[in-house]
Amino acid sequence: MLAVKWLPTLVLFVLALIPASGYAEPESLRVATRIIRPFVFEEGGRLTGFSIDLWQEISAQLNVQTEFIVKGTLRELLDATLNDEADVGIAAISITEERERDWDFSHPMFDAGLQILIPQEGEGGDLGSLAGSLFNARFLPLVIFVIVGALLAGHIVWLFERKRTDGFLNSPNYFPGIFESTFWATTTLATQAEGWPKSAVARVVSVFWMFVAVLFVAIFTAAVTSELTVQKLRSEIQGPEDLPGKIVATVRNSTSARYLSANAIHTTEFNSVEEAIQALEKGDPDAIVFDAPVLQYYASHEGTGKVQVVGPVFRKEAYGIQFPKDSRWRKVVNEALLRLRENGTYDRLLVKWFGGEGGKGGR
Ligand code: GLU
Repeated sequence: MLAVKWLPTLVLFVLALIPASGYAEPESLRVATRIIRPFVFEEGGRLTGFSIDLWQEISAQLNVQTEFIVKGTLRELLDATLNDEADVGIAAISITEERERDWDFSHPMFDAGLQILIPQEGEGGDLGSLAGSLFNARFLPLVIFVIVGALLAGHIVWLFERKRTDGFLNSPNYFPGIFESTFWATTTLATQAEGWPKSAVARVVSVFWMFVAVLFVAIFTAAVTSELTVQKLRSEIQGPEDLPGKIVATVRNSTSARYLSANAIHTTEFNSVEEAIQALEKGDPDAIVFDAPVLQYYASHEGTGKVQVVGPVFRKEAYGIQFPKDSRWRKVVNEALLRLRENGTYDRLLVKWFGGEGGKGGR
């Protein structure tokens, strides 16, 4: 019969029309991220870094394709999964109780925490900033008093000395004479004057002026000493207990920003840690508080010789992969994460990016 003869062909034809799930086009996931070294880098238009490598391994396990969406700020990154712009968020996102309310997170994928970055020490007092802080409004009255005093002492001495042939001035005329006597008053102030007036009134004025000079030098020395101490105290940040009273930079909306405001520490916030570091290197803030692995990576790479990490990791945190609430991807991503830990891939990535110690050391 014709139908029987053609039946196998017909069956094959029908089967070919049904898409077999094993051969289906892999699904594509929209993955939001942001540049935060060494977790996410952009190198020659390509993304790389610990978190990117880890995600590539996970997506291979899940047999999905990835479309990365790079966000500029932490807020934009977090919101991408909230606004259905992305299915997944991965970078250096800390799992917090507050975020757990609005998002779901994978198992922890990296142990991090907060630490402090300060400018490299050992340059001694900065003369420029010392001069700046001495010649400010506080010392202006003292400086004016001394200038007026020197002019006044100069004038009195000139007045009584100019007529004397045995006087210590070379010229009786006003300008050369005043110049000489004021020069004399100024050198009396700083060191020791050459010459000594001969007239009685000028001598009395001289003694009085020398007394003022001693006082001035004492006050000035005390001011320089206390200013140097203040500068030294400002640079003496050894751990989080030294932060109150200092100006601290960090990244807007980060867990560090939360920590600093909860501890009432004077904070300047930036959109990225790079901007905070630029400000630190210019000397604006006294320190940066941010994610320990990020600060350590910078200090041991581009920042060598310029900045240093101080104190312990004082608040432990874990990074996670972020999902919208009730995402169907969370469970499979967790399974893939566990598989990568069990088969050694995770450790290989740690060694590649952190020299083996997660969160400590460099590539
Ligand atoms: N780990 C920090 C946080 O989640 C900083 C992340 C970032 O700046 O990208 O708040």
